[in-house]
Order: sequence, then structure tokens, then C-alpha cells
Amino acid sequence: TRTTVQMTTDVIFTINTKDESAANQAIDNAIAEIQRIEALLSEWQPSSEISQINRNGFNQPVTVSAETLRLLEESLAISQASEGAFDITFKSAGRLWDFRNKTIPSAEALAAATAAIDYHRVEITPALRQVRLLNPDTQIGLGGIAKGYAVDRAAQILRKAGFSEFTINAGGDLYAAGSNKVWRVGIQHPRKQNALIATLPVANAAVATSGDYERFFKKDGIRYHHIIDPKTGLPARGSMSVTVIAPRAYMADALATAVFVLGPDAGLKMIEGIDGCAAMVVTNMGDIRVSSGLPELSALD
Ligand code: ADP
Ligand code: MG
Repeated sequence: TRTTVQMTTDVIFTINTKDESAANQAIDNAIAEIQRIEALLSEWQPSSEISQINRNGFNQPVTVSAETLRLLEESLAISQASEGAFDITFKSAGRLWDFRNKTIPSAEALAAATAAIDYHRVEITPALRQVRLLNPDTQIGLGGIAKGYAVDRAAQILRKAGFSEFTINAGGDLYAAGSNKVWRVGIQHPRKQNALIATLPVANAAVATSGDYERFFKKDGIRYHHIIDPKTGLPARGSMSVTVIAPRAYMADALATAVFVLGPDAGLKMIEGIDGCAAMVVTNMGDIRVSSGLPELSALD
């Protein structure tokens, strides 16, 4: 097991093997890959392709790598599947929030910025690998999908190095590989620090949890957190946390955010319609609700 900090998150690698030096070499390569992806996609790094789109994409089409283009296409597909609950243009209003300095944007500023949220305003021309933003105030952010994608890429590197029993956990975005081994994955309790609310058996699948406890502040008794409802520009209110199991970590990551925004009823209904996915929601009342197809849950609390 090795822990490293990437993308401002603890990333924990665990590999079942006797060959420690090969495992270390593979983990080094996986870490380098995560750093490459962060440099490509982070909206906080001015040189990333996403920052280039945010700076120039309204004035002229921005040519991006095939990899960025594909992830943008996947993001838009998940927007469509979730009727806009997952929307990378949330950033148009999301950028007004500052969770470290506890800044609540004014209602006027939020209303103006929220008008620029609409994934239809991201125009992709695949043949030219070009991206345009159709509104001057529209900005994109991949914070709801990039970490999952990085986990997928890291998992592929460990597989190619010959390992078949491992987990990669990037702060709640996890992939667990195991042909003969089933991992028990712990789900963080949304209101008790360092306590689990449940465990799930997982093999060759991804698990992601989105919670209102990850990045938040409280003011006047109200919790303000980082999962934004694209309709209002405000933190979504239906759940405390959402856990999604999916074949790939980028899907689990984005779908957990989508279900969180949709709330338990609409969110679980959407998951029921997606092959190979299942979800667990801790509602804003603290109740656990699950979709069909969720592996048997061991509730701990
Ligand atoms: P974490 O980053 O803690 O794993 P999530 O996977 O739920 O949590 O992602 C939350 C992040 O997703 C936010 O910090 C923000 O960057 C982005 N985000 C917030 N709201 C939305 C939304 N409605 N659609 C897409 N991305 C969002
Ligand atoms: Mg997510």
C-alpha cells in the first residue's frame, strides 16, 4: 500500500503481490499518469486545455487533444442522461463560491452567472477536434469527472503491468480490481468523521461517493457545499451523500454528482435506467436508499 497526494487529494494504492519492486514501479507510472491528466484537465492550471477553452473558447474555437475531446463528449452525454443535473458548465456560477474563505455570492451575481450554465453551449466539432463556448460567460470545470477518469487511467497502468488484484482510492473515487478477490469497500459516514456508514463488496468495478461533507462551510446554521444545482447555482439539497457503482470510475464519479443534484427519487430512477450501475443514497434526513442491483450492503450505522 502506498499513499500520495495528487489533485489535492490523498490517493491510496493497494496491490496484492509478492513482487514489491514491480508494484512500486507500476505505482510510480500510475502517479505520473495522474499528474499528466491533471495538467491536461485542471481548470486551476492556466496551461491546461480546459483553461485554454475557458479563456479563449468564446472568441474562437480551441483545438484540443483527442483525449480531452472524448472526456468532454462523455461529460455532455452524462448531462443528457441526467437532464442537466451533471453539467460541466456549472462552473459559470460555481466559480463565484469560495469554500475556503466562506464566500456566499450575492443573489444577483448568482442569478446572472447561473443563466450561463447550459451544457448545450459547449459546441464540439469532432472532425476538427475543436471546442467552442457559445456564451461569453460560460465556463467549464471537470471537477465532477476528472478524478474518476484519472483513477481509470491509473488502473489501466496497473493492469498492463500485470497486476489483477488492486485498489486505487482517490478521496472517494475508487477502482477495485479482482478476478478471484472481492474487496470490501467502506463508505464514509456523511456526519461522523472517520466512521463508515456501510461497506460494499466490489470486484472489477468502480465506486464513487459524492458528499456534502467534503468541501463545505456553515453560515447561520446552513451548510454550503461544493455540489451545485445547475438550475439555481446553489448547493443541491436532496442528499448528504451518494455512492455509485459503475464499470468505470469516470462514470461512477459523474453519476454520483448527478444523483446528488437530482435527489433520491429522480436520482435513483435515473440509475435504474443505466446498465451496470447501482447507487446508494443517504438522504437529507439521514435515511439510506438503494437502487436495484446494488451488491449486498452491510450497514454499520
Ligand atoms: P469530490 O470531488 O469530493 O469527489 P464530486 O465527485 O461530487 O466530489 O465532485 C464535486 C465537484 O464537481 C465540485 O467540486 C465541482 O468541481 C464539480 N461540480 C459541482 N457541481 C456540479 C454539477 N452540477 N455538475 C458537474 N460538476 C459539478
Ligand atoms: Mg463526482
